[in-house]
Amino acid sequence: MTSEDQAYAGGCRCGAIRYQARGRPIWVAHCHCADCRKSTGAAFATYAGFPTAQVSFTGKRQGFASSPGVARTFCGTCGTPLAYESERWAGEVHILVCTLDDPARLTPKGHVYVAEQLPWVHLADKLPRFAKTPTEGPALS
Ligand SMILES: [Zn+2]
Ligand SMILES: [Zn+2]
Repeated sequence: MTSEDQAYAGGCRCGAIRYQARGRPIWVAHCHCADCRKSTGAAFATYAGFPTAQVSFTGKRQGFASSPGVARTFCGTCGTPLAYESERWAGEVHILVCTLDDPARLTPKGHVYVAEQLPWVHLADKLPRFAKTPTEGPALS
């Protein structure tokens, strides 16, 4: 099976919304920003960025603009947050990895927005950590 044949299926808690992401993700990372926390109700959120053309949804998502040019989409029935899209990352859909049917298939490669990380989150992995994103400065040491 080639990478192009890979597909990642997922959906919301109640099953009203399903999606499929094909091929490989561009990146997989944990985000510690306050906006992701508030939008997910979790201490941090883990995303996989896929090219928009490789992701298809079934079922109607609800959307919320958490910032100008940003769309956070979720299931209006069960409330599961599903994806993040923004003008800043045009052409990508950022899928919340833990909405995959098998989240273990994707392995995070780093942490972003650790400048906003909660003081009681302690993760022992050796992944690179960025104050914001890799395009806004080198990994923290
Ligand atoms: Zn649902
Ligand atoms: Zn975030």
